[in-house]
Amino acid sequence: MRCVRCGSEGARYALSFARAAFCRECYVSRFERKLRSTVLKYGMHRVMRRTLVAVSGGKDSVALLAGLKRAFGDLDLTALYIDLGIPNYSERSEEVVRRVCERLGVPLMVHELKSSEGVSIPELAVGRFRRKPCAVCGTVKRHVLNRIAVENGFDTVATGHNLDDTVEVLFELYRRGLLEEAARLRPVLLGNGANLANRVKPLFEMTDEEDLYYVDALELEHVDSWCPLVRGSRMVSRKQLVLEIESKIPGFRHTLLKAHVKRVLPLLDAAVPRVETRPCKSCGQPTTSDVCAYCRTVTGLKARAPGPGG
Ligand code: SF4
Ligand SMILES: [Zn+2]
Ligand SMILES: [Zn+2]
Repeated sequence: MRCVRCGSEGARYALSFARAAFCRECYVSRFERKLRSTVLKYGMHRVMRRTLVAVSGGKDSVALLAGLKRAFGDLDLTALYIDLGIPNYSERSEEVVRRVCERLGVPLMVHELKSSEGVSIPELAVGRFRRKPCAVCGTVKRHVLNRIAVENGFDTVATGHNLDDTVEVLFELYRRGLLEEAARLRPVLLGNGANLANRVKPLFEMTDEEDLYYVDALELEHVDSWCPLVRGSRMVSRKQLVLEIESKIPGFRHTLLKAHVKRVLPLLDAAVPRVETRPCKSCGQPTTSDVCAYCRTVTGLKARAPGPGG
């Protein structure tokens, strides 16, 4: 295969949706140019004064950290690794994140759930969350990320959610008619300057494949195994389904994302009333009810989770 940019033989990164293949150097510069243009297009740079980057060690978050560091040399970045307490997996992931941060020269904060919140994700994945640990995990991660950002003076949190993640969730939200939630699925969510940090998704327009190729091209270490708790999650089968549709309707994912951002979001902005938030009575983070989802689920589950004696 020839590289479409420089014409050299031996292009190893083929993007089927773009009908193009690239050599290593051209792929890296293409990825970083696209990342820069996404950040500028959605105005993310305007809110990224001090940015906390959530890094789990997977390909997306490693691509995010490396891409931001390389494409924007002047950004003030700190990586955050949340140790979820998943046996073997969390230790291995943390080691990878430490090495990646050292190589990129980005300071790292580690937040251990068990010692800070008193409970780990496997301990929380009981009762009604037994079959869907990702639901409680998502709530915990969102809460912890925001709390650490606010407490440490970061104005913005950056996460590695990419195009495939967004399309998978959109697919489910549209299917169930959950338009209020779909209205929140966007590349930038502004905070309130007090107890809610801004959230940005610089990989919003990148596919899984693009992120993977980037870490491969830079020979960056990343965790390439699935979290053991993901087994049985509908997310995996939905992602597969989207890829099957893409194989029959090329460009499906990009069209859906573009339609959501350009056509649906403006309509939703006009139709869906702004949700007012107030401080959670228990933790002070913004919520739409008296007590936030984190406090409701985690405090309740913590009380029921087995203690050290089992
Ligand atoms: S797969 Fe689910 S449980 Fe595992 S880290 Fe991701 S969200 Fe958490
Ligand atoms: Zn090339
Ligand atoms: Zn709370």
